[in-house]
Amino acid sequence: MTGKGSSSKTALRTVGCVVTVIGLVLAAVGIILAATNNDLSAGIKYGLAGAGIAVAFIGVIMIFVGNKKGATVVAVKPVNCMNCGEPNPPDSKFCRKCGKPMVKKCVNCGAVLDADAQFCNTCGVRVRNDS
Ligand SMILES: [Zn+2]
Ligand SMILES: [Zn+2]
Repeated sequence: MTGKGSSSKTALRTVGCVVTVIGLVLAAVGIILAATNNDLSAGIKYGLAGAGIAVAFIGVIMIFVGNKKGATVVAVKPVNCMNCGEPNPPDSKFCRKCGKPMVKKCVNCGAVLDADAQFCNTCGVRVRNDS
């Protein structure tokens, strides 16, 4: 266990994409061969199509696992009301104590800011507490 977690998940997604594409190509070739007249036996044609679908399915699972394990964990912390200082749950729209709006946006770039933010953490502009 020497690999880094995030890079191995990125690699898993990349390999999953490649495996999915290879599987789809194999399935397409098998289906095209099955739909056209040629000397190949039905077992080879349908075997190729079935194997391609199975490989593509494995690739999709690899992408899914890579995405799921690699999801960003957002820290949950209470935000203080900029009007009365009451700590509110992070997803609050309005203060549970005084009813003032909890979400404010940067007037410069539109980023959503914490209620107690003094500066935009996206563009660095100073935030006015004028509400
Ligand atoms: Zn409040
Ligand atoms: Zn900004």
